[in-house]
Amino acid sequence: MATMYSGDRYLSVSEVDDLCAAIAARLPGWASWTQIGASREGRPIGLLTLGRRDAETDHRPAVWLDGGTHASEWAGVMACAFAASAWADGLEAEDPELVRWFSSHTVFVVPCISPDGMAALMAGAPYLRSVLRRAPDGTPASGLTSTDVDGDGRVRQMRWFHASGPFVPDEQEPLLVRRRTLDDPPERACFVAPEGLFEDWDGHRWTAAPRAYPLDLNRNFPARWAPFRMFGMEGGPYPLSEPESRTVVEAVHARPGISAAITFHTYTGAILTQPYAAGSPLGDDDTQLMLQLASAMAAGTGYRTIKVHPDFQYDPKQPIVGVWADTLATTFGVPGYTVEVWDPYGHAGAPVADPARFFVEADQDVLRAFARAHRGGDGAAPWRPFDHPQLGPVEIGGIDPTFTLYNPPPSLLRGELEKTLRMCDRLRASVPRLTATVEAVPLGDGWEEVTLVLESTGYLPTSATFHAERAGLVPPIVARFDADPGAVVRGPVAHTLGHLDGWAGQHGLRGHPMYADLGARGHRAVARWLVRGGGTVRWRCARAGSGALRVAAGTFARVLR
Ligand SMILES: [Zn+2]
Repeated sequence: MATMYSGDRYLSVSEVDDLCAAIAARLPGWASWTQIGASREGRPIGLLTLGRRDAETDHRPAVWLDGGTHASEWAGVMACAFAASAWADGLEAEDPELVRWFSSHTVFVVPCISPDGMAALMAGAPYLRSVLRRAPDGTPASGLTSTDVDGDGRVRQMRWFHASGPFVPDEQEPLLVRRRTLDDPPERACFVAPEGLFEDWDGHRWTAAPRAYPLDLNRNFPARWAPFRMFGMEGGPYPLSEPESRTVVEAVHARPGISAAITFHTYTGAILTQPYAAGSPLGDDDTQLMLQLASAMAAGTGYRTIKVHPDFQYDPKQPIVGVWADTLATTFGVPGYTVEVWDPYGHAGAPVADPARFFVEADQDVLRAFARAHRGGDGAAPWRPFDHPQLGPVEIGGIDPTFTLYNPPPSLLRGELEKTLRMCDRLRASVPRLTATVEAVPLGDGWEEVTLVLESTGYLPTSATFHAERAGLVPPIVARFDADPGAVVRGPVAHTLGHLDGWAGQHGLRGHPMYADLGARGHRAVARWLVRGGGTVRWRCARAGSGALRVAAGTFARVLR
């Protein structure tokens, strides 16, 4: 059977939609593709649901994947498409592990949260962060605006020599400039900016125009939202002001079985984990649990795990707010990770120790290694003289970040997607899980003692995070005995059983191989009923699964859901 998407090239937004529609058409018993929202420009935002199709599909323990929050981060969209395609291929081939897992679990995939942004960039638009939301009315627009001036179809870098310039050409790497020093002669100095034209120009001042589309969707989510500005970008006028962020938040809220999540971005080659801030509502238990799972997902992929606070801060004085992965963890209590696909500097043999700081404190040697890795390739263009209509003689060239920095070159895409698929498979393996046994002991006179033992056998606790349980974000496990007509139950019909530990939740001394001990809560819950006549034992846990067992005069028929 043909692989639906082999990861050998980048798909467009509409090709990703077509792929998902094709998966749903080929596997009607396992997949559906539905529109859950629309972008600012009216493009559909689609959700692929993978799991055995019946009335319970949307209520089973589930994993959430998404990509495309940021317009230039195409490899993240491809990670969603590749995982969905690989699982669909496996289900079609009746792979026993996948058939078993997807019969009792569901994966929800929104491959592209912001289709407008990705479609615009793929059509050659100048860099934009997320969505086509213009800067607020009244924002001054004058200054240099990036656009393809020389008509080669790409927006590259532009440089021109002037005694006031802050850069000089790098002597060691012709594709690069470096920062000017006091020892550099003024005739080597140059200005560097994105290829572009000055709008509303007075003919003299060389300034940058504000970004045309400054909104960063990943600062627009509810977690610790506050007005935010950095790198000329902002988080919107209020949380969830954008149709794209609203769509995914409502979609997760409507699917209470979601118990683990990845939102794919690029680049760094890292899994970002909690905490996101010093005052995170998550406790040490969840922080450790999430780090442990992130490390397990990263194993063998070469990816790093990085705690956002304090290890992934662009500016230690300005915390990043309104982030989707933080919202998943703190608002919904779901272990949700940002995975930053592709490590461009590591690939060039010069890994960066502090990737967030590297945005503000670049290391020229790392940049030289990076430029060397792409010299002569499609992503690099030697500086060429060009007669700019406003500036006169300039040079246009340098490194195009699209398939060098932001995304792996197409030839390396598949290798990267095989790593992200491994992460997704491990995330699937982590979800909470409940198994049940029922026993009935005859007490005489037609009475029986019915005992339900629920056992948490999954990696994560049945609440997915401890925070979800403490903050009441997920209801407790409930078990009930529904008596047949004419049957009698003595005592309460329903028992509230709280939540149970997963096997990964053992921290501190108890989880230390030398000082190992049992947890205070344990992994089993017990409910008992005194009954006369038959009935059905039912249990429900939003994130670990629900089920029912028929009890009829000491004999049981298993009716698992
Ligand atoms: Zn991103």
